[in-house]
Amino acid sequence: MEKFFHRLALCLLIQVDLFFCMIKDQRKALFSLIVVLVIMTSITLGILLPTLTRIDIPLDSRLYVISENENLALVNVTDFTNLTDRSLEISLLSFLEIYEITDFDHITIISTIDGSEIFYKNDLVDVSLKLGESGFLLTFESCEIDSVQGIAIDFEYSIVDIAPTMYQLLGFTNWSTEGNPISFSNSSGFSKTLLIHLDGFGWRFWENLTSLGIIELNLNILFAQPALTAYPSITNVATASMLSGFWPASTGITTRQNHILDVDTIFEVAGANNLTTEIIEGSAGFLAIDADYESWLPDINQSGSNDDEIFQKTIQSLNSSRADLLFTHFHGIDDVGHSYGPYSFEWLSKIEQVFDYLAEIMDYVDNETLIIISADHGMHLSESAEDYRLGTHGGSQWEDMLIPLIFARK
Ligand SMILES: [Zn+2]
Ligand SMILES: [Zn+2]
Repeated sequence: MEKFFHRLALCLLIQVDLFFCMIKDQRKALFSLIVVLVIMTSITLGILLPTLTRIDIPLDSRLYVISENENLALVNVTDFTNLTDRSLEISLLSFLEIYEITDFDHITIISTIDGSEIFYKNDLVDVSLKLGESGFLLTFESCEIDSVQGIAIDFEYSIVDIAPTMYQLLGFTNWSTEGNPISFSNSSGFSKTLLIHLDGFGWRFWENLTSLGIIELNLNILFAQPALTAYPSITNVATASMLSGFWPASTGITTRQNHILDVDTIFEVAGANNLTTEIIEGSAGFLAIDADYESWLPDINQSGSNDDEIFQKTIQSLNSSRADLLFTHFHGIDDVGHSYGPYSFEWLSKIEQVFDYLAEIMDYVDNETLIIISADHGMHLSESAEDYRLGTHGGSQWEDMLIPLIFARK
């Protein structure tokens, strides 16, 4: 780049020299010189400005602002450049005000690198939102939160609250998490847990299908609320947070390629509290988790799904009362969502099947079992040409980020 400007300056000087030699009339020469200078300056600025922006900022950076009910804003690099008048920095409160987000209590920052930070509105006065070399970032005092993917407005609960709630209700000692235990009534007398993971079953599916009466659980539901999942909203990342109570920055599971957690899971904590543990899973190796009993089940009868195998094994386990803490993971809702799209006929049939399984499973559960039903992420409709209108996830939009948190007993 430096060489280019040297050459440009040299070229300019030669041109000026030529003009003075060739044109004897001084006034004409001066006019020509000004014209040349103006042209050269605009060419230089034209090259320099876009080049600087192109080098510094990942152009695909985008940021969702979400509430528990909807996507409030989606901002990409061009929007942000225009919003900030090219300075690429704005006070966070002014930024939210542009989208009429003024009446709120707190925000949760969605980011893989720094975990999920909560800010109360009063603490936002000196916080700025910037666009830099690694995308969107927040600056406050002399700190920075890097790689911000989204801003969640007024979320009460999150996926990392599952583990501490279970620990508290079962009276465990010696544990720590990044979540908070949730309290609700009729929550005493638990000595066991059944944690049911419905892959890809976002909060809006639970909310829509229960209000339409399409799904029903014959259970005493103690608590059912939407919660924020971990980012990126993919299976191993979010399941690691569900099973440990820590955000991805602490679990070490931040991409599809990570499998080994840096923190204890519910299986270690339950084991240390003298409970027997069991994992009933589908895809082997998506996370390196251990329990006293483990089943990693392929689609043995080649029915097109391993949900039936997982269901059978879960019944078997409950029937034999071998585990005090049982984790069972149904993958089919997510698989069918990817192949046919959420709300398709096939997807609805799958939901019906899984909820029939759940109804039967509950026949084997006693009153001392804390039943937890949740998901790793939701799903949105793809807009890309190859899988148009099919289900996909991994982003920071509310369709992907909202999961159901359901605590129940028989
Ligand atoms: Zn998943
Ligand atoms: Zn999926």
